[in-house]
Amino acid sequence: MHDIAIIGAGPGGLVTALRLHQQGFRPTIYEAVAELKPLGVGVDIKTVGTKEFEELGLLEQFRAMSVEAVDSIFYNHFGQEIYAEKCGVHMGYLHEQRFVHRGLLQMMLYRTVLERLGDDAVVLGARVVRYAQDAEGVTLDIENRDGGAQQVRHEAVIAADGIKSAVRRQMHPNQAEPEFSGITMWRGTTLREPIRGGHTILHLGDPRISTMIIYPIAQNFEDSGLDLINWVVETNGEETVEDWNAVADPEEIIPAFDTLKLPFLDVQQLIQDAREVYLFPLTRHFPLDTWVDGRVVLLGDAAHAMYPRGGNGITQAMLDARVLTEKLIEHGDPATAFVEFDAARREIVNRITDNMRGEGYEVIRRMVAERTDGKPFDDIETVLPLAEADEIFSRYHALVGAPRPGHDAGEATGFRTWLENSEEVTA
Ligand SMILES: Cc1cc2nc3c(=O)[nH]c(=O)nc-3n(C[C@H](O)[C@H](O)[C@H](O)COP(=O)(O)OP(=O)(O)OC[C@H]3O[C@@H](n4cnc5c(N)ncnc54)[C@H](O)[C@@H]3O)c2cc1C
Repeated sequence: MHDIAIIGAGPGGLVTALRLHQQGFRPTIYEAVAELKPLGVGVDIKTVGTKEFEELGLLEQFRAMSVEAVDSIFYNHFGQEIYAEKCGVHMGYLHEQRFVHRGLLQMMLYRTVLERLGDDAVVLGARVVRYAQDAEGVTLDIENRDGGAQQVRHEAVIAADGIKSAVRRQMHPNQAEPEFSGITMWRGTTLREPIRGGHTILHLGDPRISTMIIYPIAQNFEDSGLDLINWVVETNGEETVEDWNAVADPEEIIPAFDTLKLPFLDVQQLIQDAREVYLFPLTRHFPLDTWVDGRVVLLGDAAHAMYPRGGNGITQAMLDARVLTEKLIEHGDPATAFVEFDAARREIVNRITDNMRGEGYEVIRRMVAERTDGKPFDDIETVLPLAEADEIFSRYHALVGAPRPGHDAGEATGFRTWLENSEEVTA
């Protein structure tokens, strides 16, 4: 049985520890921060991610802390509907798509790791600064939060140390530094009454000006009787530091939505009422040509930092954890297991990363803006026919490993909410 170190107690590292533990491994996690806090805002967990929670025996805990996604609706910069699709089981998938607070999810995973693996499974305040390896194992140099330093030795190392991974930098010293995309993200949360019944993700705007995504991440948040709403605005803006927790002032972005009128939501008020807003640059991390160096392997954001768009960050890290564990069971030699893991995952994930940089399915908002020259339309079917939009979405779902049920049988999967009249629209 391998003696494995995991670097980083983010969702990727924690889920990997749980997957390995299910198969009889007992990894040790080294985490840089001295205390884990529920940081971050919303994340969108796709159906394949929910399946992973089920297999980890955590489905009920995950359901209790998250909100089910029922539909996903796209609007232009004037609040005119472009396209809609159902989500998760409402689309015919076997599992739900759910929205959750990233930090609360991380804390749930952390507690579970301590319960299942023991309190000493996670070493906090331990920043890994470099690795060295020989034929038998890997030595990690660690800087402790209290100023001290130590070396630890393990048979193999899984680096899940996130977007600024120290291990990736050592493994790929000549890889191009990340590049600013020209887009700045404003990530906020607002407490308010449920929007459209409380299970909808809204995609708004014109990418040439600014766009917004809105979804609920907690019901009856802290017994307030209100939903905690996550929102993300993308603007074409100045470069900022790539820090998940850089605080921002929302006043600057409110005018960008002057034209956007929805019958059931005042988006400018939503921004105005924010409890917290964080600024984050969209930075292009270029796909790597390997995630492996002998007994050391990258996983999650360390291997494939993507734009936090399209709900893939945590979901893909969970799939990494599953495949990596399978390979470690199959192969006695961790270096071989890591090479097999790389072969099974890297190309697929690099394609998703590329797709997200090209806006993924959100591209329909740009297509409509360009085809209408940024003006309101009379009939969306003459601007973006349903079948054309359906094709874009079906390709995307297949790409991320969840082909749309019914698509191959020629069933139409998208719709217009005013035609279906499937949901009661509430103010
Ligand atoms: C504070 C924070 C807030 C985030 N908020 C959001 C959000 O709101 N929405 C969203 O979509 N995504 C967010 N993300 C990213 C999201 O968590 C990841 O895309 C996804 O979970 C994949 O997780 P990961 O475990 O690979 O990386 P991460 O979640 O980034 O976790 C990496 C972990 O490694 C630790 N670490 C880093 N360097 C070292 C080191 N040298 N030694 C030891 N430990 C180290 C970090 O402290 C962190 O706990 C956030 C990430 C962080 C760190």
